[in-house]
This record gives sequence, structure tokens and C-alpha cells, in this order.
Amino acid sequence: MKRSIYDYTRNALSEHLVDEGFKDFNATQIFEWLYQHRIRDFHAMTNLSKKLRAYLDDSFTADLLPIETKRMSDDKTEKYLFLLKDHHAIETVLMAYDYGKSVCVTSQVGCNMGCAFCASGLKKKTRDVTAGEMVRQVLSISEYAKTDVSNIVVMGTGEPFDNYDNVMRFIHIINNDHGLAIGQRHITVSTCGLVPKILEYANEDIRPNLAISLHAPNDKLRSKLMPINRAFPLNEVIDACKVYFDKTHRRITFEYILLKGVNDEIRHADELSDLIRGVNAYVNLIPYNPVGEFAFEKTEDIRSTAFYDRLKKRGINVTLRREQGADIEAACGQLRMKDKH
Ligand code: SAH
Repeated sequence: MKRSIYDYTRNALSEHLVDEGFKDFNATQIFEWLYQHRIRDFHAMTNLSKKLRAYLDDSFTADLLPIETKRMSDDKTEKYLFLLKDHHAIETVLMAYDYGKSVCVTSQVGCNMGCAFCASGLKKKTRDVTAGEMVRQVLSISEYAKTDVSNIVVMGTGEPFDNYDNVMRFIHIINNDHGLAIGQRHITVSTCGLVPKILEYANEDIRPNLAISLHAPNDKLRSKLMPINRAFPLNEVIDACKVYFDKTHRRITFEYILLKGVNDEIRHADELSDLIRGVNAYVNLIPYNPVGEFAFEKTEDIRSTAFYDRLKKRGINVTLRREQGADIEAACGQLRMKDKH
């Protein structure tokens, strides 16, 4: 079966081509056609030899992902349901910001992490999303929405560090100067806290921003909300964050959803500030986006502001995230995998 050319990093493509008797620089040329000129017909890659063009056409595919459905939000957020070869459908979201357009990429079909507040975990993981499928989420959205993409967040369905190798391959492809050339500071990977992978990530040569889904300031509450905490409790997550910072000098983001009456009291803010003191990080407070199946409620604005003020007062860098796309269930935690059979 032909493999998608979007699965290959520049180096992997080069190795493959050199094995077949072609040249390393051909990989660079092909990257420029695919990612800069957005050409998907190998025969149109006019600076390649006829022999190479025929070889590529015989060996690889270069299709985008077909759209199953598309929804537009009042705030210009667009949610696409893309169809994969094996008939699974995955969601990808395009968000408009002052600084440009950001794509929220799905990394797994379903999710096994089982967080109590997140719609993505309502269906167990069926399989990992390949690097090429992540690349094609970005290229497809860019083409269908006719827009450039300046930022990437790996915050769609799935746990990126449970699909580590594909996610790192994806990042290499979009970061490559001959690829989409999206800088590491314009890419964010969010994890629920898989400690061994946080440590591995600290040793990578490209390091996009790291966000950690914290959501509770103590183990008792966090284990209730996020089962992964039983495997990797908070002290291990915080220690891994310190190692990460020592190696990379990159500031971490802690994500914290405010859940009414669950984790949004002033004492939680105090506990949170004690927990993360000494980590070079900032806290991103996220309003809870309702998911029909769950009983959680959104914290009122006045209490969110009080929580924010308390963290500030205790010397924590903190932001309150604005909501986007909630009217089309495209907001954080509202993405769910849909099967099409
Ligand atoms: N598995 C990764 C990537 C998903 S990112 C992770 O856990 O970080 C999606 C972000 O949205 C995470 O911070 C997640 O905890 C948060 N989220 C999940 N459900 C939510 C909901 N209902 N409302 C708001 N944020 C939610």
C-alpha cells in the first residue's frame, strides 16, 4: 500500500530517497513543493527528474483529509470533522487570534485518560493518529479555510504523550525550515502529566511550549478528576517540571479548569500557589465548557476573578483564558471522536 508522504520528516524522506538512489537535496525540494507551494501532484514538481517524479507517484500519496462536516462559531472558530482512511472521524479546530490563526490538532482517535470533565475520554482510544494525519489536519484546514496558520496547539482529542513518537515526528515536520517553518515557540503540546515523557521531552532538540493539565492542587482531588494522577502523583509531576525547566529554561503553562464548588475556592488557590511555588510557570485558568454527560458546572465570573486575584496576590503569574467555540462544541474538552460506519 502507498504511504502518505506527509508521514515523513525531512531526514526520514532523505534516507528513504538516498536508499533508492536519489539525492539528499531531493528531500528538501519535495518539502518545499509540499509545504511551501502546497503542490500535491508529484508530476507538477518541475525541478525533480522525471524518474523521481514517477517514483514518488508510484510510492506515495499526498491527499488532504476529506471533510465530513464543518461548523462555524459566531466567534470565527471553525470545527472540522475529518475522515480518516479507516473511517474514523477526528475533530480539528481553527481559532482566530489577534496574532494569527491557530490550529488545535487531535493526536488520538478517542482517549484512554478518562478525565472526569472531558468529552474526549467518553470514547476509549481506538488508535493513535499518525504523524501524517496530524500534518494533514493542518494542511487541510489551511486549504479549506483559505488561511495561513501561525500557531499549533496539540490539544485536541487524545493524550499527545501517549502517542509520543508520532507527535514528535509531526513537530519536526511542521517546524522544518523547508516545511511549514512554524517556530517552536508557536507550537504547544499539552499533557495530562505522563512523567516519563515529560522527562524525555526535556531532552529533545526541538522544544515546543509545554502545557500541563493540572486542574487540582492536591492528590486527593486530582485523582478523582484525573485517574492518571494515581500513576503519576503531583509531586512527581512538579519534580519533572523542575527538571524540564533546568534543562530547557522554558517556562511551563499549568492549565487549571475552574469547576464550580469542586476546585475553585480560595483555599484551592492557596494550595495551588504553594504547590507550584519555585517552578518557573504560569497558570492558565480555563472556564469549564459544559459537556452534557457530566454534572460539573462553570464557576461564576466573580469567583473566577477572585481565584485569579488570589493567585496574583500570592505572586503567581496567571491568565484567565477566553472561551472560544463553545457554541459549536469546539471548545476545550468538548471534542469527541465520532465513528462513521
Ligand atoms: N490530553 C491532553 C491534551 C488535551 S488538551 C491534556 O490533558 O492536556 C485539552 C485541554 O482542555 C486540557 O487542559 C483539558 O484538561 C482541558 N479540558 C478538558 N475538558 C474540558 C472542559 N470540559 N472544559 C474546559 N477545559 C477542558
